Amino acid sequence: MKVDSHSHSKYSHDGRADPLKMLEAAKAEGLGYYAVTEHLDRDYKYCRKERFLKQLNLPRYYKRVEKLRSVDFGGIYFAFGVEAAYCEKATPWYEKELKKYDFDVVINSIHTIHGGDAYFGRFYRGREQDEVYNEYLDLLAESLKVPYHYDIVGHIGYITRYCDYPNVSLVQPQYLDKIDALLKEIIARDKCIEINTHIRHPLTEFLPERAILERYYALGGRKITFSSDAHVPSDVGAKYPLAARVAKDIGFTEWTVYKRHIPVTVPIDDPES
Ligand SMILES: [Zn+2]
Ligand SMILES: [Zn+2]
Repeated sequence: MKVDSHSHSKYSHDGRADPLKMLEAAKAEGLGYYAVTEHLDRDYKYCRKERFLKQLNLPRYYKRVEKLRSVDFGGIYFAFGVEAAYCEKATPWYEKELKKYDFDVVINSIHTIHGGDAYFGRFYRGREQDEVYNEYLDLLAESLKVPYHYDIVGHIGYITRYCDYPNVSLVQPQYLDKIDALLKEIIARDKCIEINTHIRHPLTEFLPERAILERYYALGGRKITFSSDAHVPSDVGAKYPLAARVAKDIGFTEWTVYKRHIPVTVPIDDPES
């Protein structure tokens, strides 16, 4: 089955389309499971520059999703989710708010690192790669231990998307112990990782990098899902055949998707179909 566990509609500050338009695109792509996971960026409140950025209106988003949930879109499962961006100071808020909603899926992501936004070049300016990457990996390890519920660990290697070091890969000897520890922790906690195709970089067409996916598999990790991280309808399901082929090549046979936080496995369909 074709699935897509991660996308954004107009309720996210960087999304454009109504959820209905995104859903129609998902149907046209032949998806059997499609999740809208709006940005819940409580971490921005503790950012130097972005603290005034518009936050998701969760009650309004929920109201809209509730309506769509009751519509039959011809067999496609429409999942209601959020992408909760980790920040230690925001943790009590997430703990209180997330439990108020019957989400299908919660993605635990990192976008900001100790008050700096990894999206912008200024975050990296004048900083050594090892310092930045170790800070990211340590924060990622910390984020796995949050007290609120989450299902998927978002885009591992996000840091490689926006920096311009000569070799942006996370797969370098000095980081491998930390990556192994992360993957073991994810497996021990029975969480899922995503193949996130929202990246345009000569290094890789998806995150995490293939070697990290292979290591996850070798360590016994089997919970994996596909995520386009689409922000416009035309990106829903983007690069799905590539992700399915890579997953199958490595040995994965099933996607894991979440319905009311319950993991459901579906076979990875023929990448060419
Ligand atoms: Zn993200
Ligand atoms: Zn996202």
